[in-house]
Amino acid sequence: MSQAGTQSNPLRVAIIGAGPAGFYAVERLFKQKDLTVEVDMYDRLPTPYGLVRNGVAPDHQKIKSVTKVFDRLAAQPQFRFFGYVELGKDITVADLRRHYHQIVYTTGAQTDRSLNIPGIDLKGSHAATEFVAWYNGHPDYRHYQFDLSQEHAVVIGVGNVAVDVCRILCRTPEELARTDIAGYALEALSQSRVKVVYMLGRRGPAQAAYTAPEVKELGELADADVIVLPEEAELDELSQASLADGADRGTMRQVELIQEFSRRPPAGKSRQLILRFLVSPVELIGDENGQVICLRLVKNELYATEAGSLRARPTEQYEEIPAGLVFRSIGYQGVPLPDVPFNDNWGVILNEGGRVIHPETRQPVVGEYAAGWIKRGPTGVIGTNKPDAAETVELMLKDLASGRILSPECPDATAAEQMVRKRQPHYFSYEDWLKLDEIEVARGTEQGRPRVKLTTVEEMLAAVGKK
Ligand code: NAP
Repeated sequence: MSQAGTQSNPLRVAIIGAGPAGFYAVERLFKQKDLTVEVDMYDRLPTPYGLVRNGVAPDHQKIKSVTKVFDRLAAQPQFRFFGYVELGKDITVADLRRHYHQIVYTTGAQTDRSLNIPGIDLKGSHAATEFVAWYNGHPDYRHYQFDLSQEHAVVIGVGNVAVDVCRILCRTPEELARTDIAGYALEALSQSRVKVVYMLGRRGPAQAAYTAPEVKELGELADADVIVLPEEAELDELSQASLADGADRGTMRQVELIQEFSRRPPAGKSRQLILRFLVSPVELIGDENGQVICLRLVKNELYATEAGSLRARPTEQYEEIPAGLVFRSIGYQGVPLPDVPFNDNWGVILNEGGRVIHPETRQPVVGEYAAGWIKRGPTGVIGTNKPDAAETVELMLKDLASGRILSPECPDATAAEQMVRKRQPHYFSYEDWLKLDEIEVARGTEQGRPRVKLTTVEEMLAAVGKK
């Protein structure tokens, strides 16, 4: 048979995970003019787009318009979607190796980093990732309960996810009703009694992980005052020196915004969003029912490491803040895939530049690759996955050129489809998804919303006539 990548012997690629990294890998593969490539994209959910559907905040609709690019790629005849097919449950890596020349894992980071402090498992303490998945209507999280009858909520961390959570907790029902937030979440948040939301940064305003446009938005909420303590907005000497050394414009802008917030008199809005800096939670304190009631914080100071970065260390100063709801938002974490080498310390697939590496030989595993958060960790914005996926695809093309690809027993598209049909008769094709999309958008139009999501797999299957 001719070398893979020709019309008579197309390069068959399986992509596992239908989020941005997966689609950007497809885009790069389809750009290769001299290559005939067929892509089958798998996802454990019936719906594509990964975190663009289940992670991006519902009040950030513009960001979601990137799905148009993904839809255009999916419309190519060499592309197929096998939604609701889970690696490790419905199919295995061995199955993929029997059907494809190359496999790319783009499963993202599906859980949260843990915070090991006393009381972290008290009732009312949650991972922000769970709350995010819940308000976005992720089928696995729709049954989660968040006690929004509490008046005080605390979000630990000052990354963009923490900002999203704070914003969603502070938005009015009217603001939320214009978004595609899950229907049950809209209802629950409309009844919310949360009055004060704290966002806690362990370092100072010049080291916060959020980006300037996101923090600016916190100052523009319809019915929440943003509050910063003037003494915490002031930069310490080390931060001042690091900014003077040449900080990027984004960091300068973030600091300016925080300082501007610290000078703003509260406008008497219904909710208060209090941004705190240089504090770390050391303990969650509960009542007799095991419900969190407050958080013990230690004041931090910054010190410079030998490498020059500024880290936080605790002082002897403590305080307590009331907290009935706590969200840990200190970063996502990758989850191992069955039979795929994993680096537990970093929470990513063991890889070099996207080539999966065998843990013992330290040599590339032929035919297996990774892209996106499961390759590099949970950093960057959606667009960051584009160059990341391109790097992986470049290695795939190099390996193809040198003949280092798999030799699948059944390299034809029909055989792969037959396997999927057998394992998951209710799998979702892209056409099924487009039908569901239309239904959700139509339901949204009736209510003046961008879409009303279906949030159980059963509903999704029924909506497209699968069950
Ligand atoms: P992140 O940006 O890595 O932020 C994590 C935050 O947690 C940092 O403030 C970090 O502080 C803090 N943290 C870590 N360990 C801690 C501990 N033990 N105690 C207290 N604080 C701790 O993570 P993320 O917010 O989950 O976001 C993930 C990625 O998605 C980011 O690249 C983000 O920009 C992106 N994202 C973008 C958008 C958007 O563009 N609108 C929205 C959501 C997410 P230190 O800096 O001190 O470690």
